[in-house]
Amino acid sequence: MEKKERYTITAALPYTNGPVHIGHLAGVYVPGDIFARFQRLKENDVVYLCGSDEHGVAITIKAKKEGITPQEVVDKYHAIIKKSFKDFGISFDIYSRTSNEGHHKTAQEFFKKLHEQGEFIEKVSEQYYDAKENQFLADRYIAGTCPHCSNDGAYGDQCEKCGTSLSPMDLINPVSTLTGNTPEVKETKHWFLPLDKYEPWLKEWILEGHKKDWKTNVYGQCKSWLEQGLAPRAVTRDLDWGIKVPLKDAENKVLYVWFDAPVGYISATKEWAEKEGKNWEDYWKDEDTKLVQFIGKDNIVFHCIIFPSMLKAHGDYILPNNVPAMEFLNLEGNKISTSRNWAVWLHEFLIDFPGKQDSLRYTLTALAPETKDNDFTWAELQTKNNSELVGVLGNFVNRVVVLTNKYWGGEVPALGELSEVDKSVIEKMQTFPDRVESSIVKYRLREAQLEMMNLARLGNKYLTEEEPWKAYKTDEARAKTILNISLQICAKLSVLAAPFLPFTVEKMKHILNFSANTWEESKPEMLLPSGHQIGKAELLFERIDDEQIEAQLKRLADIKIANEEANRKVEPEKEAVSFDDFQKMDIRVGTILTAEKVKKAKKLLKLEVDTGIDTRTVVSGIAEHFSPEELVGKQVSILVNLAPRKIRGVESQGMILMAEDSNGVLKLINPSETKVKEGSVIA
Ligand SMILES: [Zn+2]
Repeated sequence: MEKKERYTITAALPYTNGPVHIGHLAGVYVPGDIFARFQRLKENDVVYLCGSDEHGVAITIKAKKEGITPQEVVDKYHAIIKKSFKDFGISFDIYSRTSNEGHHKTAQEFFKKLHEQGEFIEKVSEQYYDAKENQFLADRYIAGTCPHCSNDGAYGDQCEKCGTSLSPMDLINPVSTLTGNTPEVKETKHWFLPLDKYEPWLKEWILEGHKKDWKTNVYGQCKSWLEQGLAPRAVTRDLDWGIKVPLKDAENKVLYVWFDAPVGYISATKEWAEKEGKNWEDYWKDEDTKLVQFIGKDNIVFHCIIFPSMLKAHGDYILPNNVPAMEFLNLEGNKISTSRNWAVWLHEFLIDFPGKQDSLRYTLTALAPETKDNDFTWAELQTKNNSELVGVLGNFVNRVVVLTNKYWGGEVPALGELSEVDKSVIEKMQTFPDRVESSIVKYRLREAQLEMMNLARLGNKYLTEEEPWKAYKTDEARAKTILNISLQICAKLSVLAAPFLPFTVEKMKHILNFSANTWEESKPEMLLPSGHQIGKAELLFERIDDEQIEAQLKRLADIKIANEEANRKVEPEKEAVSFDDFQKMDIRVGTILTAEKVKKAKKLLKLEVDTGIDTRTVVSGIAEHFSPEELVGKQVSILVNLAPRKIRGVESQGMILMAEDSNGVLKLINPSETKVKEGSVIA
C-alpha cells in the first residue's frame, strides 16, 4: 500500500466587498476543489480551506459609500460568497472569515512573535492626517490634482485618468475625501518586514528549488520580482478597521490587510481542527505535510514571496510545496470587471441555469487559464454542455442504462467470450485511472478532465460500433457482453469524474447502484458483477437552448451600452439664446400616421404626421434606427415651423426631435406615456 500523504490545500481568500464571479471560480476555487476531491479519493489526509478576507480600506470605502458599517458590508458579502461556493459544490472543509475573534488572536500572535524576534524594522514617515476626523488618511481617502495630466479627481494611490501610480504626497491641492478639508502632514510610525533580507534565501528556495515543479507562469513572475530587488514592506496601517497592532505604542493602528489575510489560512485550520478533534499543527508544522495554495496570478507575489518570507521569519511553519496560480479568465473578449459589471456572477448564474453547476464547472475547467489568459463565451458553454456533456457522457450512460433495463430488467448481464475489439477496449479503459491521476498531480486539470471525457468517448464509440441492439435480436450472449463492458466503463467513469462533476457523479452512483469512495476502487476491470441490479435511467444533463444563450448575450450588450453611456462626455453647453428666440420655435405633439422608405436613400424615411394643425410630410434621417412599421402610431415631438426644404425630391415640412446615445443610436422623444392630443404645444 502507498504511504498516505497529508495535504493542506488553500484557496485564495475572496475579498469581501462584492460577490464572486466565474473568473474566481475558474482561477481558484474549482481547480482547488478538483485537487482536494482527488486527494481525498486517494485516501490522503486533506484539509481544503478558505474564508472571507474582511479587512482593508476598500471595505471601509464601500461602507461609507453605502452608508453602512464595514461589519455590515462584510456580513452581507460573506453570506453571499459562502452560499455561492456551497451551491457550486466547492468542498471546503471549512469556510471561515478574518473578522473572527480566533483569527484576530492568531494574527496578533504571529505579529508578536516576529516583533519579539526582532524581525521588523520601525520607520517614522510623514503622512496626511485629517484633524477633523482625527485620523490618518489611507491613500484612497486623499484626492487631488494629478501632477501628470492635471485631472483633479486623482486619488492618493493612482490617477484613474492617465493610469499613473501616485503616492499621496504627489497630489497637487490634496483634500481629505472624508471631510473635504485640506489634510495636515503628521509623523507616524510603522513596522516593516525587510523583504530585502529574505531575497538571497528566496532566490535559492524558488529559483533553484522550484525550477522544475512550479508552473512556468508562476516561476517567471517570481523571477522577475526577485531580479528587480525587494524592499521593506509596511505591515501596519493607520486605520480603525482591522486587527489591532498588539503593541503599547500602536494605538489606532491595525495590521496591514496583506499581513493578516494569509495568516487566515492558519486560523481557519485551527478552527476546523478544533471542531474535528484534530491537531492543527500536523497541517502547518509537519515537514511531510504538503501545503498547496490555489490563487489567481494577481496574488503570486503575496503567496510566493511575501507569505513565505513571513513563514520563514516566524520559523515554526512549513513553506508552500506548490502555488499553482492561474492566469485570468476574460468574458466575451473583455477583462472581467466588477466596477463595470462585466462579469457572470455565480449567484445569478443559477437563477438563469438552475441545476447546471456541473455544466459551468466543466466549461470553466475546459477553458481554464492554466498557462495564459483565456476567454469564456456563452457559445462555448452551450457547446461544451450540448456536444460533450449531453452528447458524449450523458448519451453514453443513458443508452447503456436504458438498454440494460429494457433487455434484462436492470440486471448486469453476464460477460461472455471476448472479441478482439472487447479485449482492446478493456485494455484501454484500464489505463484511464493513471492517466487522469498523472495529469492532476501535475496540476494539468484541463488535460485531466479531457482524459476523463476520453473514457466516455471510448465507451460511446464502442457502443455505437458494436450495436448491441442488433446483436440482441440474433445473438443475445454477444449483446450481454457488450453491455457488460459498457457498464464497467460507466462505473469507472463514476469514480474518475468525481473530482470534476460532483453533482453528476451523485446521480451516476444512484443510477448504477454503485458507490466507490476511493480512487483505488476505479482500478479493477470488473466493477459491477453480473447479476448486480442497477436503477432506472435519469438524464444526467439537459441541453442549453439558443434562446438562453441569446438572453445572456443581450444582457452583456445592455451592460456594454450602459457603461458607454456612463462614460460618455456630455456635449458642452451652447451659447445662450434669448427667451424671444426660444419662443420663435413652435414644437408640437404629433402622431405618425404612415412611414415608408425613400427610394435609393438608405437613411431616409418619409413620414405622414398628424400635427393637430394639419397632416404633413416630414423626411427624417432615421431609417437605420427604426423600421417603418414600428413608427406608425408613435407620438413624437415635432418642430413644425422649420422652413420647408426639399430632400431627395420630397418636400419636408418640419423636424422630428430625437436623442442620440453614445453609440449614435437614435431614440424618439415621446411626449408622454399616455396619448397627448395632437397639436399640443411643447414649451
Ligand atoms: Zn493623471
